[in-house]
Amino acid sequence: MDFLPIFLNLRSRPCVVIGGGEVASRKIFLLLDAGAQVTVYAPELGETIRGWAGAGKIKHVAQPFRPETLEGCALVIAATDDAAVNRQVSEAAKALGIPVNVVDRPDLCTFIMPSIIDRSPVTIAVSTGGRSPVLARLIRARLESLIPAGYGSLAKLVTAFRDKVKQKFKHPPRRRQFWEEVLQGRIAELVYSGQDEAAEKALQARLDTVDGNKPPVGEVYLVGGGPGDPDLLTFRALRLMQTADVVVYDRLVSPAVLELIRRDAERIYAGKERDNHALPQEDINHLLVRLAKEGKRVVRLKGGDPFIFGRGGEEIDTLAAEGIPFQVVPGITAAAGCASYAGIPLTHRDYAQSVVFVTGHLQDGTVNLNWQALVQPDQTIVFYMGLHGIETICRELIRHGMRPTTLAALVQQGTTRNQRVLTGNLETLPGIVAKAKVKAPTLIIVGDVVELHGRLRWFEPTAAD
Ligand code: SAH
Repeated sequence: MDFLPIFLNLRSRPCVVIGGGEVASRKIFLLLDAGAQVTVYAPELGETIRGWAGAGKIKHVAQPFRPETLEGCALVIAATDDAAVNRQVSEAAKALGIPVNVVDRPDLCTFIMPSIIDRSPVTIAVSTGGRSPVLARLIRARLESLIPAGYGSLAKLVTAFRDKVKQKFKHPPRRRQFWEEVLQGRIAELVYSGQDEAAEKALQARLDTVDGNKPPVGEVYLVGGGPGDPDLLTFRALRLMQTADVVVYDRLVSPAVLELIRRDAERIYAGKERDNHALPQEDINHLLVRLAKEGKRVVRLKGGDPFIFGRGGEEIDTLAAEGIPFQVVPGITAAAGCASYAGIPLTHRDYAQSVVFVTGHLQDGTVNLNWQALVQPDQTIVFYMGLHGIETICRELIRHGMRPTTLAALVQQGTTRNQRVLTGNLETLPGIVAKAKVKAPTLIIVGDVVELHGRLRWFEPTAAD
């Protein structure tokens, strides 16, 4: 982090601005908004600032800047078009230990001004560390459109009820749940539509009827984290990850996706590397039950889709038996993600009319599949967990009648910046795996559709490491 974001209390504090033009006026506007007492040093004033001076909102000193004038002030902004003056201001302020900003000269600043989204008392500041004000403004525009204007009023409502709610709920997690329910439900909607009074009444009524001592009820969300690229998460997955008390995740969940978990949520690694399970499945099932019984909101985060080779069914079966509420959130499964990012359509009118997803790793460690059913004309086969059994897979497909020259692709760490796509055919594939040191997670796609990779490949990232 180049700069530490902080929010300054400037109410009634003396601040100095050097310069009286248009740029200075934008900074002064913000200072006034924060309640500062602003003195402007400038031989002449532009129209806007002249207006403020006339109305007594700022003090104007029609003299050039002198270092002594900074003494005792809380903050200084230099906004002149004279480089020498700007430098002088910066040096004088630094000597006095006063925070200084020189417009468009990050090298002379001890603080920079962020782009601001103002929903007071909610304030969001965006900074690119002075590198690209345009990018900061674009981010700000996106946030502006995402955050309802009513957030400010909502924060005021929270302030008014904060103590009452605190008294009512002894368990902090239960209190947090109450607030989340209020801030995401009907009461918040009333505020957004400008009905502040109705919202206040509804909140009071809710508070009167709710049982504050009831232990919180936990819940488990079985969430598909997708194949790796965090942009492929669903909105619901993201929302639940942001509200979880605890997240139990697998090895397959990418670091970029883990980044999006609520910062103070507890994280438990449930492992599951081949033959090296950090926690046996049985223990994971019971862990989920125990956490939910403690009243926690548990996100069980899995790679891809939880119901496709994810053992999600087994986990919620235990929850159902214990009467614990749960939800299942689908994710983009590796086959869909890898196929898209490798430019290999899984079906195509000219090549394949069906697609099957198969596991290449069976419970007893063998690859004992219904090969005959797989070896069908015009069908794409996608093998999950197939790397270990690659030789058997290729051999058996050929033995059951597939052309040895049938095309096949290996997609390693699909959709991530480390994605690798290697193509060959049933004869050459095992050799490619050994030679190119292909590692898990890798998906194997077998079928004529692989030919399209040459033409449709589009995602060729520079590896992150
Ligand atoms: N539930 C997951 C699959 C879990 S099985 C899903 O729906 O995607 C684990 C197998 O998925 C791995 O062995 C590998 O074959 C495949 N896989 C998962 N993520 C992958 C990725 N990003 N790239 C390539 N293969 C992946």
